[in-house]
Amino acid sequence: MIFNLSRPKSMLPSSYFWTWDQSTNWVLDDPGIVNFGSWNKYLKKPETYVEDYRRLTDMALSLDIKGIVIWGFLRDSHGGIEYAKKVASYAKSKGVSIMPGVGTTHYGGVYHQGDNKYNINTFLNANPECGAVVSKEPGAKRALHAVCPSNPLFKEWISEGVNWLFREFDIGGCNFENGDFFSCYCDKCQAQKENWPKSDPNFFRYQAMCYQSALDTAKSIFENNNDLLITWATYCGFIPEKLTVEKDKPESFVTKMGTSRPEMFNRLSYEGIAQWTLTRMVREKEISLMDFLDNGTPDIIYDNPSWLKGITPPSKRSTGFVHQGSQWDYSPWESKSTRYSLILGRIKEACLRAYESGLEGVSIHGELTSRHIPAALNYLAFSHFTHWPYDTLRKFGEITLGEVFNNPCEGEDYVEILALWEAGKVDDQLKRKIKERYDSAYSIIYPASEDASESKLTKFFFWNWLYRLVSGFHGIEESFI
Ligand SMILES: [Zn+2]
Repeated sequence: MIFNLSRPKSMLPSSYFWTWDQSTNWVLDDPGIVNFGSWNKYLKKPETYVEDYRRLTDMALSLDIKGIVIWGFLRDSHGGIEYAKKVASYAKSKGVSIMPGVGTTHYGGVYHQGDNKYNINTFLNANPECGAVVSKEPGAKRALHAVCPSNPLFKEWISEGVNWLFREFDIGGCNFENGDFFSCYCDKCQAQKENWPKSDPNFFRYQAMCYQSALDTAKSIFENNNDLLITWATYCGFIPEKLTVEKDKPESFVTKMGTSRPEMFNRLSYEGIAQWTLTRMVREKEISLMDFLDNGTPDIIYDNPSWLKGITPPSKRSTGFVHQGSQWDYSPWESKSTRYSLILGRIKEACLRAYESGLEGVSIHGELTSRHIPAALNYLAFSHFTHWPYDTLRKFGEITLGEVFNNPCEGEDYVEILALWEAGKVDDQLKRKIKERYDSAYSIIYPASEDASESKLTKFFFWNWLYRLVSGFHGIEESFI
């Protein structure tokens, strides 16, 4: 399902969808589909790669979301350069920016998997002396999957690779990563500490080393096209407090920067756009739908020690990344991954707080087909709250769902019923109301129905899901229709 929404200028214009190619499943019947993992092979057909991203591109366009990050953009197993060109060129023709994931010192390199000189394994097989020393053990060997950022050959290689990527493909930016909390214990990388403030967290010192050459290269590319989204993962939030665990490799999901201003922001000649992890900055527990049904700035959103009101990141340009609603997030409240979960409260909170902290975009995952109604609702909310971060849930229903249903009252009813259901306030009157809406939507698939247009079918899918949810049908949350 693709929507046709009219949107004003976005208040978070550098927003994008974040995806892995192998778990982005808009085509539902390819035998190679998987829904988890990052190091997996790509087992689907190359044609499915193109079709999955054609559909996500159309969705991004209809939501006025600017970009799509693709980790695994270039692989031999889905058609290599030729098929990646198809993906990027189609998106460009629609005004959507494809942003390949680029691992600088880890995560595959520019060419994620395959026989190409800009792939990390290919590079390290030819130049094993460039491998990172990832273990502190004396005599540790150099890795064949991670590169030492101090090696001059690495700097040349990543610079050439980034130039090639932007020259060869119709991309609208990229998304750099270096390997979550990368470390190299070679003499050069350790000696570099002498040239760095002792109080700066080691993981930011490594980030400076791992990103610098790539960002220096991107600088001149950006100067020729300042619409490009050149983003890089910080792997943490922008809370200006000391870390409690000061190690080379902090524990996963570090929320804090460890300092008020990491030194790398004083040293980089070009910063690009820092992509801050908002996953552990947003409230530990999601706000309820009732919390913002009629209040766009409820106090509870600001009752959060991990994101104090008024703090801003030290970067010149910033976006935020939310893992909730993906395979990378686990809900202790529901004892499961939130990949298939409805996360309207998270999206509202992230967009509002990001806007107020001066970020220019937010990203969520875009891997699920919109035939999964919770995903469709998340995408619609992502569109709504990036354009109107101060809006209430009711406004989302009236304006955005109202456009989908071609009826603002029906959109409002929908979110009100959803909020009341979540609050456990389902009474007979509510049941009657939803039955009426459901019956009306259901009439479209009667054999005698004269109008089975796509927009009416879309309406039916939404009401069918909500009707079954409120009626307590088992397993509806995982259902695709
Ligand atoms: Zn090194």
